[in-house]
Amino acid sequence: MKFFLLLLLYDRELMENTLLQIVQQRERLYHLQDLVCLRCNQVKAAHLAEQCGCAGSFSCKEDATEFCEKMQLILNIAIHQKFQLLQECTEWILEVEKS
Ligand SMILES: [Zn+2]
Repeated sequence: MKFFLLLLLYDRELMENTLLQIVQQRERLYHLQDLVCLRCNQVKAAHLAEQCGCAGSFSCKEDATEFCEKMQLILNIAIHQKFQLLQECTEWILEVEKS
């Protein structure tokens, strides 16, 4: 976050664009994320398998709460800095995620 505050001192437009890119990238990664085994930490290979070879169960690497918390943090920055586009983008993502 220190990095963003530094950027803010120089270029607000650059900061908003950087944050927008992060939001979009995080959102894409969140939806594409692999499932990992809770027991051996192996990434799920077959999409049909309910359980890992070690008999452990799978879980998403990042849970929805964690994801929403990060988005909320960026939304707060957007509101505070009056980054309209960034605010709309994160609000939309949060709305989709919570519904
Ligand atoms: Zn396993």
